[in-house]
Amino acid sequence: MGLEQTYEYLVGERIIGLDQEGRVAPLQKGEKENIENLSNKERALRFNGFVITDERGNIVFEDRKRYAQHFFPLSVIDYAKAMYNFERHKKPIPILSVDSHDVLQCDFKCQDCLSAHGTNFPVKQFPKDNFRMDLETYKQMLKEIAGYSEKRGFRGVRFEQSGEGNPDYYKHRQEILRYAKELGMQSVYVSAGSKINDPLMNSLVKNASFIRISFPGIWEAYKHYSGQGEFTFTDAMDGLGRIVEERDRQGRRRDLMIGARAALRAEHSDTYFNFANRLKDLGIDSL
Ligand code: SF4
Repeated sequence: MGLEQTYEYLVGERIIGLDQEGRVAPLQKGEKENIENLSNKERALRFNGFVITDERGNIVFEDRKRYAQHFFPLSVIDYAKAMYNFERHKKPIPILSVDSHDVLQCDFKCQDCLSAHGTNFPVKQFPKDNFRMDLETYKQMLKEIAGYSEKRGFRGVRFEQSGEGNPDYYKHRQEILRYAKELGMQSVYVSAGSKINDPLMNSLVKNASFIRISFPGIWEAYKHYSGQGEFTFTDAMDGLGRIVEERDRQGRRRDLMIGARAALRAEHSDTYFNFANRLKDLGIDSL
């Protein structure tokens, strides 16, 4: 979705293109400047793949389908750099990404939930309600993680907050989002979105780098697969629309990635592209 596929590639810090023979080659000054002026998000959406070359510029490995949303706001280059510095220069590897599943409570009963309603793992292993860690301990842990990485030369840890439940329920979410940003961490928020009220939405748009709304099903299949009687497919779409409006109101269109993810099911075969086009019309960046 979004920007057209191109044949230019980012390689580390350098910006280069491919010549007719498929070897890396310098780009025209204007083309280079256009790429340099892209925001992090625009780059992520424009460059889907990566190449590894030898010293002469011959491509020795090529991956054209490394979808940005799996790494954003980082890119595969961040991981490659960390490995390169470790292998070549024995530099310790920083923490690049951390996931926090800080809520076990959920208002959905998705048929293929991988947590509570699927495997029952967290319900058996952890307390039944929310994360019991107090706010100050949680913040201290984030500080330690960010500090650990900064000492190893990396700022901007990807910090995903998502379910083994509905993360909208976490009562200190706004403070955690704010504090993570203060530490230089980059929040990725993954939720079905049913409990995102206006204050939480404002905070997410202000502090997060990536908001992804999950769809257990689309159109009529939403109710069936989500086990949700109150929050509907239309509510989820309307919620996404409000997040996009808030993003534009706060002037974050070029930076904040907003995405959706949907389970692919047989019932969706005729409607999936319709759904994707609706999301595109809404101003969603990735699916
Ligand atoms: S919203 Fe997530 S945690 Fe809740 S039931 Fe669905 S898949 Fe499981």
